[in-house]
Amino acid sequence: HEDSRESLTSLPRRDTMGSFLPDSSSYELLTVIGRGLEDLMTVNLARYRPTGEHVAIRRIDLESCTNDMVTYLQGELHVSKLFHHPSILPYKSIFITENELWVITPFMAYGSARDLISTHFTEGMSEMAIACILLGVLKALDYIHHMGYVHRSVKASHVLISADGQVYLSGLRSIFSLIRHGQRARVVHDFPQYSIKVLPWLSPEVLQQNLQGHPDAAGEAERYCALLAGHSTIPAEELSLKPSRSGADSGICEGPGASSARQANGEPSSSSSSHPYNRTFSPHFHAFVELCLQRDPQKRPSASALLNHSFFKQIKRRPSEALPDLLRPVSPISTFQNAQPPDSPTGLASLASSLSHLDVDDWDF
Ligand code: ATP
Repeated sequence: HEDSRESLTSLPRRDTMGSFLPDSSSYELLTVIGRGLEDLMTVNLARYRPTGEHVAIRRIDLESCTNDMVTYLQGELHVSKLFHHPSILPYKSIFITENELWVITPFMAYGSARDLISTHFTEGMSEMAIACILLGVLKALDYIHHMGYVHRSVKASHVLISADGQVYLSGLRSIFSLIRHGQRARVVHDFPQYSIKVLPWLSPEVLQQNLQGHPDAAGEAERYCALLAGHSTIPAEELSLKPSRSGADSGICEGPGASSARQANGEPSSSSSSHPYNRTFSPHFHAFVELCLQRDPQKRPSASALLNHSFFKQIKRRPSEALPDLLRPVSPISTFQNAQPPDSPTGLASLASSLSHLDVDDWDF
């Protein structure tokens, strides 16, 4: 792969990338915190020696990658240098060391939304936490769409949360440019490669086109509701409450006066209401979800339209300030005494265990 490998790092550097040295000896590898790219990629927590700060290193074994994969990775690195947005995970340095591609990003101490859902919020997060997280995701998507791209891998494991409550969208590997010959394409025929795990999160028309050769509607095809994974939004009808549809119209561009009188679940749930079947979500949330899940992609709203949805009007504080409180009792990982040596088979288990025990404040029953 010599040529393609060289071209991986010969992309123009931006000043923001220069802040972290492209030299593996500057990083002390700590525990493994994730895997991806069909297990060819390992994500390590690491300490950046010059400053002592924690970073995440995505390490990809280039020996195991086909030339096509290397080209694919190159696309990701290219857009990472093009994109600068507060809701998109920044890449701090990219280099090759001993046949591995190392991508250095800031360490996100709350992990991904998927980590949070699978370790602590197994019955779902509060509506307010979801609103704060989705707002960050939509801002990132709106930017990506304005830049002429579609993300194509919106899922909870690609939504990362920093210690200071900022939400970042990652997973730029499947990104696709809509610009062809200077024109913005209306449809995408290309199907994301090396992304078997993303299949459940693709829109029906993207999956359908792969089976039947149908195009999907570009830009509108992103699914915004990855956070709802494992998270029931039980319709009011099923809870024998007032029918939700009567009160829930599209919700887009409504004024603040249209906000719901019904319980909006922004508060931390009490033990009696924590079971998903005992909780209700606001009509705005139901309306939001219904809009996003419409079968016809032409009817599905764009990211920028969704940003104005009444669902987000319930956020009264700055989301990054509100989110740490909303994620309690989870607190960001800040102590690493139990870190395992890199690649230790128990490294992931150790992190999971530190997530579920060490970094949780005492439960307050
Ligand atoms: P997939 O093959 O599932 O699409 P991927 O190759 O896109 O995965 P990522 O989702 O980027 O891999 O990383 C895998 C996991 O590693 C994330 O879900 C998250 O738990 C963890 N992770 C990645 N980057 C960071 C980071 N900067 N800070 C903290 N955790 C991270």
